[in-house]
Amino acid sequence: MKLKLFAAALVLAASAAAVAQAPRNPPKLIVAISVDQFSGDLFAEYRQYFTGGLRRLSEGAVFPAGFQSHAATETCPGHSTILTGARPARTGIIANNWFDLGTERPDKLIYCAEDERVPGSNSEDYTPSGVHLRVPTLGDLMRRRDPRSRVVAVAGKDRAAIMMSGHNPTQRWFRSGTRFVSDRETPAPAAVASANQDIARRLAETAPPMALPAPCQPRSRAVPVGPAGRTVGDGRFGHAAGDGEALLDSPEYDEIVLGLAEGISGEMRLGQGAGTDLLIVGLSATDYVGHRFGTQGSEMCIQLLALDRMLGGFFDRLDTQGIDYAVVLTADHGGHDLPERVREQAGGQAERADADLRARVMGPAIGQRLGLPGQLIYGDSVFGDFYVDRALAEADRRRVLDEAVQAYRAHPHVAAVFTRVEIEAAPAPAGPPDTWSVLQRIRASFDAERSGDFYVVLKPRVTPIPTVGATGSIATHGSVWDYDRRVPILFWRRGMTAFEQPLSVETVDIMPTLAGLIGLPLAPGSVDGRCLDLDPGPATTCPR
Ligand SMILES: [Zn+2]
Repeated sequence: MKLKLFAAALVLAASAAAVAQAPRNPPKLIVAISVDQFSGDLFAEYRQYFTGGLRRLSEGAVFPAGFQSHAATETCPGHSTILTGARPARTGIIANNWFDLGTERPDKLIYCAEDERVPGSNSEDYTPSGVHLRVPTLGDLMRRRDPRSRVVAVAGKDRAAIMMSGHNPTQRWFRSGTRFVSDRETPAPAAVASANQDIARRLAETAPPMALPAPCQPRSRAVPVGPAGRTVGDGRFGHAAGDGEALLDSPEYDEIVLGLAEGISGEMRLGQGAGTDLLIVGLSATDYVGHRFGTQGSEMCIQLLALDRMLGGFFDRLDTQGIDYAVVLTADHGGHDLPERVREQAGGQAERADADLRARVMGPAIGQRLGLPGQLIYGDSVFGDFYVDRALAEADRRRVLDEAVQAYRAHPHVAAVFTRVEIEAAPAPAGPPDTWSVLQRIRASFDAERSGDFYVVLKPRVTPIPTVGATGSIATHGSVWDYDRRVPILFWRRGMTAFEQPLSVETVDIMPTLAGLIGLPLAPGSVDGRCLDLDPGPATTCPR
């Protein structure tokens, strides 16, 4: 009798385990969202106030310490990691712009998402393209496995849409000027015309300032920055008719992009076809707000609370269609507040980088010491990759390189300088991304063909915008430091068991995680990331 009961209990336990471990059907739709410049710091600061879509995602599988683990924490490299599983050293997207000193183009500068083979192209006026991306994306692999899978990308920036969707999307739309355009020759869904009308309508009208929600009130305080009279920190958006820049640097821009994503998704009935579909959304307004107003004022507060509300509505409407969808949300990079406010708010020695660190100033100064004419070195900013003129004789190139490395190392704003030889010799990084050395971070951004001859790292809290004008950017990202590398990674699916993992993970883990969810096999060694098991118990969403 006793034995029988025990046996029955065993059977019960076994069947319970079988139920718990039964793999769920793959979701019918994956929604992958990048909120540009949504740093781990912003997530931590505002998480307590979210009530909409970001609240929902904060109650899924939460990785508050995600890392864009590489050095050049810019838009294009960041987006290239999210759905490829690969770091920039493998995606080839080392920066927003890099130099090709062999090109005939006078500026020698290549934009990450252009096709420079198109005659007349330059880094500002170009034909958008994904030719520089060296690896396939999740969407590419999904469509290769099952041609019935549809991959749709909608983003505020061309490089976001292109780097996240890759080489063979079904539809890809991004803004150019005041219209959404595509680099693909696909017939436009009706939602594109509606979105373009939406932009035109908003531009034709004056928008009043937005309300200041309660959590934003203590954050609303004017901080002087740049020329006399310019302040930020207590703004509430709103814009005059025709002011396109003010429209884009506001929550309205994300509303427009989300509206287009929802429109195309509904029109194509994503998630209701024969295969698993992928909807990619690139939301740029948080980045624009961060650049123009910084991260700690009323503007960022209003932006994030509005985004939370808009994402809530977006998910609610997906729910009404009864689609089984899985969401991942992350960011292309983190961010750093303007040094003027950092200093006021107990952040210590924050400052703006010396304008003399620019290649066009440093190069000729070095030339004077060496008795060599010309610019000698090229660089897109006051830090990052620098290139020595290839037209120089080999001996002179070496002298310029040695002199430049010494000059940058001697500057009080510079933390470190590494030469190409040092970077190439460094082993590819491994282990938790928060433990990597600065050199390993740079190694993760290194591409033998595209990277420079040396890499300049500014000290922490030195903002690489030397001077502030009457308008334009006052704060930015791009550094090797963790405030620019750390981003939240949030997964959510209805019915999943929530958990939080505070240890560091990488954005390159997202793609293998999603591949695990839909049973898509990945070739061994083809990605840098690993599958994150989204089941908190003994079952797993990863390949066994
Ligand atoms: Zn940015």
